[in-house]
Amino acid sequence: MPDMTDALITQLKKAQSKYKEALENGNQEMAHLHSEESARICVALAKNSPKEKEKYLKLASNWKNAVIVKGKTPSFHSHIEGNSESSESNNGFKSQAENLISSSLVRWDDIGGLEETKRLLMETIVVAGLQKPESIKPWKGVLLFGPPGTGKTMLASACAGSLDATMFNVQGDKITSKYFGESSKILSSVYDVAKEKAPSIVFMDEIDGVAANRNTDASEASKRMLSTLLTTMDGFASKKNNILILTLAATNAPWDLDDAILSRFPRRIYVPLPDKQTTHAILKLHTKDIGMDCDLEKIAAECVKKCYSGRDLSTISQKAIHTMVNDKNPNLHELARLPFEELKKRKLNTRPLILADFNEAMNTTNPPVNSITLSKYEQWNKEFGA
Ligand code: ATP
Repeated sequence: MPDMTDALITQLKKAQSKYKEALENGNQEMAHLHSEESARICVALAKNSPKEKEKYLKLASNWKNAVIVKGKTPSFHSHIEGNSESSESNNGFKSQAENLISSSLVRWDDIGGLEETKRLLMETIVVAGLQKPESIKPWKGVLLFGPPGTGKTMLASACAGSLDATMFNVQGDKITSKYFGESSKILSSVYDVAKEKAPSIVFMDEIDGVAANRNTDASEASKRMLSTLLTTMDGFASKKNNILILTLAATNAPWDLDDAILSRFPRRIYVPLPDKQTTHAILKLHTKDIGMDCDLEKIAAECVKKCYSGRDLSTISQKAIHTMVNDKNPNLHELARLPFEELKKRKLNTRPLILADFNEAMNTTNPPVNSITLSKYEQWNKEFGA
């Protein structure tokens, strides 16, 4: 067989430069085609040079998984050298992991009610932070489950905010679709950066999107990401270290999680729909600098009957406030003709909120779950909550 290595390497260089050009032009479809072409050439190189077969097959697989992200061109040399773990690509994953850092300004007092849930989470953090005998192991993973809009993200942010911790906001389904093929590497970089910037909270929102029962239709990328999560968390659990890295996961569909993931989250905290006391506290928080000329306790009781979530209560408060504003400022839109400097000199008229403002808001707000789904949560909590 003639030695085609040189010719194939020239072809590979061409494909790589076209790939780069397509990426720079934002043409991801074309970039994808050229990365596939590069993968094919690498397979041909593997066949052509049996001695270097493994190196080229590895390169082929790197090209298949090349991240098609504008501005993140994989280096040709790292591919041709067979060194996808080069510092350049590692830095790429690291910077993508750093992009997931979000600063949290949420404090426990910003969360209305949910006293028991907050207590459990505060306890978890305190145990992790205190000096303790070796056999007292802090929780590494906590699962927050419950209906949509009940404050799970706020609770995770408050954990990070109160510890002044670095918070990584990992939306599993988003990184698996956006960085297909590379999401598991980004996830391990998240934990590397989390270690560097500890104390850290890794918040995995909508974990069911990644960790749905693996025997079902979870995609390859999700499966790989899930395995990384499981092995990384096991790694942390087995190492004696004093660094605090807490993984908080949230889901609206806990029944979709498989046993492997559940076993990594032995602490499972139910974040229910707000009861009367929590509802009252949330309504008060979201209307805090507006007067009240109605019985907020009665309104809270009505909201509980309707199964409103914390998010609904925030919406209802905003709608009630807007009704009041429109009532006290008829023809507000006419002021739009004024220059902004002039607008800033004028004051919006307000009055205390009344029952009719809330009633109107409630009439146009639908709760997120029905009583059947609610009992499903209660049942799951009884069986698996801990
Ligand atoms: P999802 O499951 O849909 O991701 P979630 O449970 O994470 O929702 P959050 O995003 O934390 O819910 O809350 C949504 C919004 O609802 C918050 O931004 C906040 O305005 C309001 N909210 C929910 N619960 C509370 C609460 N206990 N106190 C104050 N505001 C709350």
